[in-house]
Amino acid sequence: MFIIFEKHCEAMAINFDDYVCEFCGRPCKNVVFAAFVCGDSECVEKARVARGGPGGHMKRKAEGKPIFIDLDDD
Ligand SMILES: [Zn+2]
Repeated sequence: MFIIFEKHCEAMAINFDDYVCEFCGRPCKNVVFAAFVCGDSECVEKARVARGGPGGHMKRKAEGKPIFIDLDDD
């Protein structure tokens, strides 16, 4: 979540004309879920899915699954 907030802060200083949508290549108009996208809701949705949706790890937590995989399991 920290990284996402950081990107949003950066977004305030960036020039969108320098970027294109990560999904269709059209001019970037927005930054959502730390991804550059155009104004198309389809691309916004793709960005959401690519980032695991809002609070993706919180969903794991709600399901009772560990957020971090325990590698010391032997
Ligand atoms: Zn797009």
